[in-house]
Amino acid sequence: MLQMEDIKSYTLKELEDLLREKAYPKFYAHQIFNWIYKKRVENFDLMTNLSKEARGFLKNNFYFSHLKLIERETSEDGTEKFLFELDDGHRIETVLIPEGKRVTLCVSTQVGCKFKCRFCVSGISGFKRNLRTSEIISQYLEVAKRIGRITNIVFMGIGEPLDNFDNVVKSIEILKEPHGIYFGRRRICISTLGIIPKIEKLRELNLGVKLSISLHSPDSKVRTFLMPATKKYPLQELMKAVKAFAKYERYPITFEYIMIRNLNTKKEDALKLVKLVKGINCKINLIPYNPSPYFEWKAPSIQEIEVFKNILKKCKIFFTLRKPRGEDIKAACGQLKATFKD
Ligand code: SAH
Repeated sequence: MLQMEDIKSYTLKELEDLLREKAYPKFYAHQIFNWIYKKRVENFDLMTNLSKEARGFLKNNFYFSHLKLIERETSEDGTEKFLFELDDGHRIETVLIPEGKRVTLCVSTQVGCKFKCRFCVSGISGFKRNLRTSEIISQYLEVAKRIGRITNIVFMGIGEPLDNFDNVVKSIEILKEPHGIYFGRRRICISTLGIIPKIEKLRELNLGVKLSISLHSPDSKVRTFLMPATKKYPLQELMKAVKAFAKYERYPITFEYIMIRNLNTKKEDALKLVKLVKGINCKINLIPYNPSPYFEWKAPSIQEIEVFKNILKKCKIFFTLRKPRGEDIKAACGQLKATFKD
């Protein structure tokens, strides 16, 4: 039997190469992209500007995978959480965050997470598998179909995007493709705990997407305590890679900093943070810890936040304070969880 391929895992370039190999015109790839991603048609029979023979070839070799929407919850603040079932029965979550004119989609990249950060629910049940390119793209297509305009995409859902590097890169290439969705590269952001070689690879690929680093402490001991997986990627080296990235891309890198009460919110932490990021074109995103029954941490006090903020302000470090969104439906940062079939 022929091995059927999931068409939404193909970049335009891959599709062009394949069609050329089979002696079909290269521009068929543009037309197929146009059907799938602009007209949103998922049926080869309806792709009437392709030859009948080509449609037959596609039908015999490709299929359209689907995410099944199991549940859609809306938070009091307008945040929505979508629970999707994959073809093999595993489940992932995708979050939509409307905020004024901005509508941000937060996509997952893995079923579960290997990295077990000590504040994030996604790692608790462990890791099952990487999401396929099509499963990343379909999160966008499925949500867009229901709500319309999405202005920003962040790779900040379940999983570590740079640990599923090839599929994440391919999904970005598909999102950016002018013959398809044509999503602006600067409106896409990848968040990572800091896998250094992959940050370097990302820079070499010149995708133009934004980079966000989950920093959480300027102290390498505290950082590796909170994120044991970062032991392999020392903080000083990470900062070098980030500097190189920022210099190359010429736009600010974001450092995410979860504020946890009595842990990383002292005056000294703020001063150390200032020193660490000095000279880097960056922005700090302060995220008050979202409490969860799985961990004993507490959200920071208002006073802790104020003191921390004032130091950054005084030292002229640009920062934002993230409002927790969707807490009531467990859609906030660090609250997403995959469910495994078995
Ligand atoms: N693995 C990637 C992407 C997923 S995490 C990464 O580490 O960046 C997305 C963001 O949510 C990260 O900054 C993460 O540190 C943050 N986060 C995780 N748990 C959180 C919690 N309980 N409260 C607030 N933010 C949390």
